[in-house]
Amino acid sequence: METMDPSEPHGQPLQPERPSPAPPAWEAGGDQTGEGPPAWATRGAPTDRGTMGGGGVLGTPLGFPGEPAGGVRGTPGGFPGEPAGGVRGTPGGFPGESGWPGWSPPPVPPARRPRRGGWVVAVVVALAAVLVAGVLALRPAVRVEPPRQQAAAQGAATPAAAADPRAEVPKLLAKRAKAVLRGDRAAFLATVDRRRAAYYRSQAALFARMRTVPFSAVDYQVTDQQNWATATVRRRYAPDRVYLPHLQLRYRFKGQDASPVLGHLYYTFVLTRSGWRIGGQGDARPAWRDDVQIWDAGPVRTRRTDRTLVVHHPGSETLAGRLLEAAERAYGEVAATWTGRWERKVVILVPHDQEEAERLVDMRDLSLIVALSSSSVDSGPGGRVLGNRMVVNSTVLAPYRNLELQNVVTHEMTHVATRTLGDVPLFLVEGFAEYTALRPLRRYPPSLTRPALAERVLAGRFDGRLPSARELRGRDGQVAYDEASTFCLWVVEGYGEGKLRALYRAFAGPRPPTADELDRGFREVLGVSKRTAEARWAAWVRARL
Ligand SMILES: [Zn+2]
Repeated sequence: METMDPSEPHGQPLQPERPSPAPPAWEAGGDQTGEGPPAWATRGAPTDRGTMGGGGVLGTPLGFPGEPAGGVRGTPGGFPGEPAGGVRGTPGGFPGESGWPGWSPPPVPPARRPRRGGWVVAVVVALAAVLVAGVLALRPAVRVEPPRQQAAAQGAATPAAAADPRAEVPKLLAKRAKAVLRGDRAAFLATVDRRRAAYYRSQAALFARMRTVPFSAVDYQVTDQQNWATATVRRRYAPDRVYLPHLQLRYRFKGQDASPVLGHLYYTFVLTRSGWRIGGQGDARPAWRDDVQIWDAGPVRTRRTDRTLVVHHPGSETLAGRLLEAAERAYGEVAATWTGRWERKVVILVPHDQEEAERLVDMRDLSLIVALSSSSVDSGPGGRVLGNRMVVNSTVLAPYRNLELQNVVTHEMTHVATRTLGDVPLFLVEGFAEYTALRPLRRYPPSLTRPALAERVLAGRFDGRLPSARELRGRDGQVAYDEASTFCLWVVEGYGEGKLRALYRAFAGPRPPTADELDRGFREVLGVSKRTAEARWAAWVRARL
């Protein structure tokens, strides 16, 4: 899985957002079977990856403790069907959902944040290596030999034909991929340098874990043949010759993944007497890091239907089951608002805990994020959007009651469904996902379902402006999400859901619309300028909230 990189360099501190609304009982199973959600839930604001053009990520941030109780202003005793005091509004509102800015459009070329930084570093390292090689060339005793010469130096031990890693490594990787699919442990381990005992053992363990994964396809590809081994790495494996290219693991899960999901890998190959073998990995750090996969942290189990695959670790069966049920319900919720084509399949990854979630999505602090959705977008042929993953922060999500969990899943699934559209303005992306997730609560006044904005209006501090990307991921993110979702609600009430979808589609594309394009889109779809639409929405908000 490729994807989630913070748009901000190294991820900026996530900030809490607004408290979530208080939904009443869900039609089916709205009651709380779980321990009951944290009373303080709110939404957090993730970093925005979207505008950076990297792998798309839409998250569902999360509430933060410390939120004053009674989060929902003016919430009466609770919604019908809610246990007393149960309204989300309950102390603190409902930890559900929220979006998370940062959704990146597909057709943008590789642009994982960390990786971009990595490239810069890598280039510097590479130049340094060239200089070193130039100097060393004057001192043959420690000279780093070019492939052919070194192969010759190894003499009979290694046939010259086997010495060229660019020819041999792809064959080795093909055997490895086949071994994974066939469950052939011996063949898998035959791709590893047996002399490096610790690494060899770790590979045996990796194989055992990978055998628990429902792969329908596995493939490794060399994406950059250049040997990125630095002098340090070469010394680490001396006297063996080393080869450190850029690789991609491409895989599909059974019943899912119309296109392969991609992950970056940096194996260090060493030339042994038997030919090239994998001798280690992680040597490309810090310039490049391997993508972390869910099977890296332990064996996995699955729960599934024809359209939903939940991948979790042993011990998380309960949460996995709840997520499966929520997802099955979410398809209908998403279909109620989004009629566009999408695969209508979702994979939900359930890491052990927040730390594993952070590794999976390559982000630092998910303490305020409850879930993220992503798409593997880099290196996709023709810029196709790949992957349909949702990753949850189990640590935060597990205590959620079903209603809140449903809200999270529906919101994220909306992102998955609409992610192929590209760089739609963030207020529409998050507003639409939020509108979809709250739609089942539409019989309740927006002041109850959007309490943060209601409070803002009541305090006379509502500025009447549609939220910017910065506001959506800022400290007042909850207000911004309410603003975004009420905008969608306003469009639906005045023009119908068809126009809301049309407006969303009007801005689809590989880059964000300019101000002129935005205005033109509003005129074409709603018949009024953006400024007029904004003013009318603001008046509606003041009247209704
Ligand atoms: Zn979102």
